[in-house]
Amino acid sequence: MKLAYIGLGTMGAPMAANLLKAGYNLTVYNRTRNKEISLVNKGAKHANSPKEAAIAADVVFTNLSDSADVAEVVLGNTGVIYGMKAGSILIDLSTISPKTTKHIAQELAKKDIEMLDAPVSGGSEGAINATLSIMVGGKADILEKALPLLQVMGKSITLVGPIGSGQITKAINQTILAGTYNSVAEGIVLGLAAGIDIKAALNAVSGGAAASWVLDNRAENMINDNYPLGFKTSLYKKDLGIALETAKELGVAMPVAAYVEQLETSLVKRGYGDEDISNIARIVREQAGIE
Ligand code: NAP
Repeated sequence: MKLAYIGLGTMGAPMAANLLKAGYNLTVYNRTRNKEISLVNKGAKHANSPKEAAIAADVVFTNLSDSADVAEVVLGNTGVIYGMKAGSILIDLSTISPKTTKHIAQELAKKDIEMLDAPVSGGSEGAINATLSIMVGGKADILEKALPLLQVMGKSITLVGPIGSGQITKAINQTILAGTYNSVAEGIVLGLAAGIDIKAALNAVSGGAAASWVLDNRAENMINDNYPLGFKTSLYKKDLGIALETAKELGVAMPVAAYVEQLETSLVKRGYGDEDISNIARIVREQAGIE
């Protein structure tokens, strides 16, 4: 089986490396060409354009930043659509809008090319250790063909529905996180303002109904007012934008997600876009006058 992988960023590079490690024949392409070097040194071939990478591939992976980037790499002048053969599969691992996903799938279908949308969660650690959760939209028989490949990159692979459903699921994930991060930050700042032993307090509540992954894994950042990655604020702002755009299209009001997206916008504008998203506590602290 011949594979192509386009987009060797924080997520793409280690995920492509896992495919190579599993013995697959892999061609890579990255816009900034020197990011291909470490994979070529591990045995990958490299191509001069997305189209060239896709020629003769059975499966093409894209792992890019945002909706417009995936549209350009798939449908643009040197896009993979001009290299892919009928019957091959595009698997988009990026987090992008469900609307763009469906448009790309429709264009690919005109050439008998299949598509799965397969956004991931689990961060760069998950990409390196192949422990990602992958939320898949598309046809069951296409996923069945692609499953061994996804299992090389992730631990939990779930088909949630037709094309676009993976991206909707990722939007649900990011929406739930908005309220959780904000509420954990507010709770911690309440405790700091009261001057009680915040670690003892969190220990007391973390076994009860207020338990959460955010509380267990990101409270320390918020207490220390220090926000190492984690998950980048600039990417999260993008993801909440996708969730809110989708909500608007569907007529769903999401005031908490909208509020948190505004906070993320302010954090990015102030130069905190590369910090972990637990930095929402910066704003809650500032509002409470706690430095
Ligand atoms: P990243 O490190 O910024 O990498 C982005 C990749 O996309 C780079 O290879 C970049 O090429 C390429 N790219 C962007 N726009 C392009 C364009 N118009 N044409 C060609 N190539 C383009 O991002 P990442 O962290 O790997 O994230 C990739 C996707 O996974 C995003 O959708 C993100 O939301 C999602 N995700 C990320 C995480 C995480 O923890 N980082 C977790 C889950 C999901 P250059 O090298 O030339 O810039």
